Amino acid sequence: MAMKQFKTESKRILDLMVNSIYTHKEIFLRELISNASDAIDKLYYKALSEGITGLGREDFKINIRTDKEARIIRIEDNGIGMTKDELDNNLGVIAKSGSLNFKKENEKKEDIDIIGQFGVGFYSAFMIADEVKVLSKAFGSNEAYLWQSKGAEGYKISEDIKENHGTVITLHVKENTEEENYDEFLEQYRIQSLIKKYSDYIRYPITMDMERSKKKEGTENEYEKYTETVTVNSMVPLWKKSKSELKEEDYNNFYKEKFYDFTDPVRVIHTSAEGTATYTALMFIPEKAPYNYYTREYEKGLELYSSGVMIMEKCSDLLPDYYSFVKGLVDSQDLSLNISREMLQHDRQLKLIAGRIEKKITAELKSMLANQREKYDEFFKAFGLQLKYGMYADYGVHKDTLKDLVLFYSSNEKKYVTLSEYVKRMKENQKDIYYACGETVEKIALLPQTQTVAEKGYEILFLTDDVDEFALKTLGKYEEKEFKNISSDKLDIISDEEKKETEKLTEENSELLEFMKEALNGKITKVKISDRLTKHPVCLSTEGHITLEMEKVLNQMPTDEKVKAQRVLEINAKHTIFETLKSLYENDKDKLKVYTDILYSQALLIEGFAIEDPVDYTNKICSLMTK
Ligand code: ADP
Repeated sequence: MAMKQFKTESKRILDLMVNSIYTHKEIFLRELISNASDAIDKLYYKALSEGITGLGREDFKINIRTDKEARIIRIEDNGIGMTKDELDNNLGVIAKSGSLNFKKENEKKEDIDIIGQFGVGFYSAFMIADEVKVLSKAFGSNEAYLWQSKGAEGYKISEDIKENHGTVITLHVKENTEEENYDEFLEQYRIQSLIKKYSDYIRYPITMDMERSKKKEGTENEYEKYTETVTVNSMVPLWKKSKSELKEEDYNNFYKEKFYDFTDPVRVIHTSAEGTATYTALMFIPEKAPYNYYTREYEKGLELYSSGVMIMEKCSDLLPDYYSFVKGLVDSQDLSLNISREMLQHDRQLKLIAGRIEKKITAELKSMLANQREKYDEFFKAFGLQLKYGMYADYGVHKDTLKDLVLFYSSNEKKYVTLSEYVKRMKENQKDIYYACGETVEKIALLPQTQTVAEKGYEILFLTDDVDEFALKTLGKYEEKEFKNISSDKLDIISDEEKKETEKLTEENSELLEFMKEALNGKITKVKISDRLTKHPVCLSTEGHITLEMEKVLNQMPTDEKVKAQRVLEINAKHTIFETLKSLYENDKDKLKVYTDILYSQALLIEGFAIEDPVDYTNKICSLMTK
């Protein structure tokens, strides 16, 4: 019987488990119980859907036994069991493929993260055991196999004997060390309380063989030992209990256990409905985005139960994309147990439930925003991007659902605000909502355009995410107010006098402006006298629908067609450079060309763009410096 090696990534997880500094060692039990319960679920579901007789719900159970002397904890289930191949594949390699990458990227983070994010399941046994044996017989098979491992060096599988289908896991508990106490896990009462704490809702009985002693009959003080089997869990799924019965802690434990998180959720939504659609939903909003949330790997969905029996692990049709961060489950008696994935997609009842659930989530988020602003801010940090995508996606059909849930950074408030808060604070004469785009809040604050508008006392929304401007453009208007990009749109903050002045200057210098435009040789659409600038010599703005930010974002997408914003170079006529330009136009047109080039490059740099020919740019500057 050859020793098999764990797949490399499993090995690392194992190392992590064995040497874990992680203090919640106790979770090993809930992980193993939850595996046992899943295995029973699978068999029960198979029995129901394939019409296999002789497997009633009452026949299933999970049994736990401890043996102090032998230092053993034994967890037995009569679920679906595993074949030899399944033992090899399921326990020889860790299922969650993303885990290793995650660990690599976050090498410095504590171990707790990886455990929290993935629920390493079976492997957690090695936190408390120095040897793990898994004896299993698959349902319908005549052969049983024993998988055994002492940890990182590998595992063995051999043929064995087992009467009934199901799995027995035997843990040999580690010896105490100076820092760690393992003996506690051999105490019956400790195991009992762990079952209560984490696995109470498991829908099959979890029985324990309790060692008791009683007086021997006919004796004065002689005692004899006997074993009593007791059911420890209440078996009522948490969501079937009434809200008043449940404490915050119950919800939190349930969430963490079921959805492999180590932080409490920021919001728990427990709701029931009767009538056209009858269901109970228990949903959670996590505090942090899972490491893979903003990748294709992430799968949205709620667990789907039909009268307490799980029929689908991730029913994606129950959640719109913009609420894909919600975790939880829906239990409905209206759904047939045998419904297939394809049928489910067209199921009217399911659509109805999905619609209700969406409304409920929206309402809960609104209430959180109104009553628990700090919590909401935290939530938005984690998932706001998804809401903004939602506003923009599907041609904006969901924009009205989401417009009051999104936040943007405010130049005045120096924090994230809602559109409604912005509108309430608008100046009397202000018609539009102003925004500016850039990489970071700090960079936007330094843009010349920003400073001009801010100096006049107007509030500006700073947009830092790629999707932001698209989201606002999709929304179009908020409470009849239009959105104006302070770098490209005409702003109403300029007085009539200022406008006239600009017009006059433009006319007087039309030849100069035209010359500069020609000098830039197609790079820009126009050179104009700016009404956005106060101190800075130049800035870049745009005409038409595509702004610089949009150009940047759109061109990052993997399409062949590149878009180009119509760029405008704006000159500050109040800046001394303008006099220089005017005089060069009269006296030294070649030099004016050089200056124009430099000014354009400067405008690009200020906007956060790369300049087209940095070598040429520095040469030009250098030659001016040495003259
Ligand atoms: P997870 O449960 O998250 O998939 P685990 O590492 O806990 O990951 O378990 C790996 C796999 O081993 C399970 O998906 C399941 O297929 C199988 N397994 C574990 N425990 C049992 C059990 N008691 N009975 C049957 N199969 C099991």
